[in-house]
Amino acid sequence: MFQTDFLVIGSGIAGLSFALKACAFGDVIVITKKENYESNTNYAQGGIAAVQDENDSFELHINDTLECGGGLCDLKAVEVLVKDGPQGVKELHNWGVRFTRDKEHPERFSLGREGGHSRRRIVRADDLTGREVERALLEELKKKPNVMVFENHIAIDLITKPAGSGQTRCVGAFAIDRQAGGIKAYISRVTLLASGGCGQVYLHTTNPAIATGDGIAMAYRAGARVANMEFIQFHPTALYRNEERAFLISEAVRGEGAILRRINGETFMERYHTMGCLAPRDIVARAIDHEMKTSGDKHVWLDCSPIGAEKIRERFPNITAECLARGLDITSEPIPVVPSAHYVCGGVITDIEGRTNIEALLAAGEVTCTGVHGANRLASNSLLEAVVFANRALKTAVELLEKLSHDEIDPRQYQYGKVCSTDYDGVFISHTREMIRLTMWDYVGIMRSNKRLAEARKWIKAFSEEIEASYLSSPLNPELVELRNIAQVAELIIRCALLRKESRGLHQNSDYPNRNDKKFLRPTVVERKN
Ligand SMILES: Cc1cc2nc3c(=O)[nH]c(=O)nc-3n(C[C@H](O)[C@H](O)[C@H](O)COP(=O)(O)OP(=O)(O)OC[C@H]3O[C@@H](n4cnc5c(N)ncnc54)[C@H](O)[C@@H]3O)c2cc1C
Repeated sequence: MFQTDFLVIGSGIAGLSFALKACAFGDVIVITKKENYESNTNYAQGGIAAVQDENDSFELHINDTLECGGGLCDLKAVEVLVKDGPQGVKELHNWGVRFTRDKEHPERFSLGREGGHSRRRIVRADDLTGREVERALLEELKKKPNVMVFENHIAIDLITKPAGSGQTRCVGAFAIDRQAGGIKAYISRVTLLASGGCGQVYLHTTNPAIATGDGIAMAYRAGARVANMEFIQFHPTALYRNEERAFLISEAVRGEGAILRRINGETFMERYHTMGCLAPRDIVARAIDHEMKTSGDKHVWLDCSPIGAEKIRERFPNITAECLARGLDITSEPIPVVPSAHYVCGGVITDIEGRTNIEALLAAGEVTCTGVHGANRLASNSLLEAVVFANRALKTAVELLEKLSHDEIDPRQYQYGKVCSTDYDGVFISHTREMIRLTMWDYVGIMRSNKRLAEARKWIKAFSEEIEASYLSSPLNPELVELRNIAQVAELIIRCALLRKESRGLHQNSDYPNRNDKKFLRPTVVERKN
């Protein structure tokens, strides 16, 4: 058993930026499920949206965010996001993130533009922004003697206890040590959930294998309120290939002038939105989905020729190299692209100070629903959300630290009896995982219907019963933990989707094709019934 002041679950941008500051106030333990850099953050290409120059304003960034969010954004949270944004970028820079400089004005950052943004405001590190953020923050963390990072530790469940007047308090988490094979208890005064998103719930996703929604499932099981899980963002342009994690072709490519075409060469985006290929990503994803379904084509083309070969190589070195490694020269050939599950706008409800409804459990990053994205996330607002709200959670954490002591916790209560084992039914786990992902892809994808959602609910319920039986009867292992979480998150997505009987933002149901502000201008909130 380990005791610490701050337990951080996850080592993406939210967890690391929190840990870097929290260590000034107490000891920090970070547990992370694979290698320390493995996270959605590590794969972010486009960059971080933040107002940077005189041609832009907070008002414009706020308006773009609200416009994209389909009426469901929390205005206060959006204001915090946008106004704290420049400071968040500055802090990342001070921690050593090497953002790309403007060629003509090297004292400034080079600013990109992406779909839905009315100004150039995307700060980036070439087209490998996330990797550079992880590199810099992990380097910086090495200098902090009172931060311990435990790699290959997968959190299983939060540890909670009654906190009086019907409240629950989080006092840490159980985790499996993948290498040593045992289960450990991490007892903390304050816990930050920074475990990221859940793209792996879908068959096609841009998210890496770690993104199984563990944090959302753990928090839900512990009694946290969860919201807006129906709003799953599908990135319009992932490279069309049969790979576990679809390689993403950043929206910045369209921002620089690339054009979407059907396989027969026709353009189509002008029929869907006045901004054409620069329309918000849900509209682009739906348009591609619709074009593919009507034509029967397996993908559409992203034609980069308007950008020019030299600029493609200079502006998108990583995308150029990754495609070339797969035999595709994007300076002379169009890119075959399809939509893929990319981002979850919903998650564990927090206020603007990072608090959940469970005492001493804070949350930041993609695992949360802060209200900034509403029914649809504006491109490059999520790295920003993670860094801004992790910082605000830090202030809450410091206040809590003064209030809560370890003395109130009897660690003996939290010894975990079960033994971790590698002796388990691997076929059951891998088969069920694939079936859930396929079910979600086919029935709970870009275009939904009542019939498809009901079908999905039936299948996920059946899978969940099997998984729960296996969970209770067999020794624990990381794959089973993930499978249980994937099933839980799938159930939450379907439940939220069924509750929202309208079409709005990322949730489109052909049985309710219109937006219904009278009934649904509010988040979809779900809570565990005991
Ligand atoms: C391909 C791609 C491109 C993107 N591009 C952009 C972009 O350009 N701009 C932008 O703003 N956003 C982008 N996003 C979204 C953005 O990267 C994420 O929303 C953001 O990085 C989330 O940060 P996070 O810290 O909340 O979570 P993550 O970075 O996902 O980190 C989560 C961490 O939690 C750990 N973890 C998970 N479960 C457990 C567990 N049970 N136990 C222990 N540890 C656990 C993981 O291992 C990981 O370390 C992109 C996402 C992808 C996938």
